[in-house]
Amino acid sequence: MTVDRVACLSCGAAPAICPKVFELGSGDQKNRVVDEYSVELNEVVSVGIIPEELYECAKAAAEACPANAIRIEEVKE
Ligand code: SF4
Repeated sequence: MTVDRVACLSCGAAPAICPKVFELGSGDQKNRVVDEYSVELNEVVSVGIIPEELYECAKAAAEACPANAIRIEEVKE
């Protein structure tokens, strides 16, 4: 999954809906994937790979995002 951290409005909805996957960055207050699932993090993007059981929760956050900043795609093993 990818979070567009430039588009993110720091509204807090993503971490509120799915705190196991998302949190607001401590410095810039933009949404990011939590450390446990993060594979890349910088000012413009946060990329993470989450277990399947968290998919529905992350999807709900993506659908609620007013900035449409969260993209989720399946990772083939
Ligand atoms: S819901 Fe969207 S705009 Fe709000 S914090 Fe999450 S990524 Fe940012």
